[in-house]
Amino acid sequence: MSKAPGFHRTRLAPTPSGYLHAGNILSFVLTAGLARRHGAVIMLRIDDLDIGRVRDAYVQDIFDTLTFLGIPWDEGPRTAAEFHSDWSQRLRLNRYSAYLLELMQLGRLFACDCTRTRLSGGDMCVCSDRGLDPMSPGVAWRLLAHTGNRICLNTLDDGACWTELRSSVRHAILRKRDGEPAYHVASVVDDMLFGVDLIVRGSDLQDSTLVQCEMSAYSSLHYFNQITFWHHPLISDPEGRKLSKSAGDGSVSDLRRHGADRRDVFGGICSSFKIRERPDSWIDLFQMLSEKMGI
Ligand SMILES: [Zn+2]
Repeated sequence: MSKAPGFHRTRLAPTPSGYLHAGNILSFVLTAGLARRHGAVIMLRIDDLDIGRVRDAYVQDIFDTLTFLGIPWDEGPRTAAEFHSDWSQRLRLNRYSAYLLELMQLGRLFACDCTRTRLSGGDMCVCSDRGLDPMSPGVAWRLLAHTGNRICLNTLDDGACWTELRSSVRHAILRKRDGEPAYHVASVVDDMLFGVDLIVRGSDLQDSTLVQCEMSAYSSLHYFNQITFWHHPLISDPEGRKLSKSAGDGSVSDLRRHGADRRDVFGGICSSFKIRERPDSWIDLFQMLSEKMGI
């Protein structure tokens, strides 16, 4: 890019449902590097909404791994204890609930009692036409997207792009059957609360971005649609498959236990993008990746 526009704030937003792996580190390095380039503050926001999957060891691992790799953040918790006392998403549940009620009042949600078994059996959810009582127990709340609605996304690399919500995510769940807010709600409410205006996330989250833009349009959080996004390429193994925690790929803490230093971790990310280097610092890694990715 010839000229770097300014941004105010971006965030590192790991979910503590596993140990951090190379895919997380890639996203952090790209986020931190773009923040430094564009003059944005980097906030650490740990997405611990889903208490069933969160473990204290995973929260601690976020601090340990960022420190080990020297990846900086300017705002947010500095320790796990500080996170639990002042920054947990569980402390903001009232805000998420209030936003869900607003969406309901705006007619942007509908109640659904479809079970996962029924939907995985190939049945379509047609609950938007059934008028179920949203206050009845055990129903999920889904997004009522405008059919064929096109969304204008501000992207860092291509500017404003018109794109469409895929039908498979048009009725995303925004409140789960157990009454808990879904990821999309917490993420957008938090981004608006903290004044985020640049979001860097993997290309596998593009659908999530579109759901969040569609959800927030016409609501009190419509400024979410003015955020600039960059959906970056993902790390692949030599066969081109995307790496993930669920596939049992080695975490950074696991690599450390086997004697790896930060050059080994950064070098591993480089090799996945066919860069024959083992940089010593995250900023060197960022320079190499941003050149390779043309950002
Ligand atoms: Zn349904």
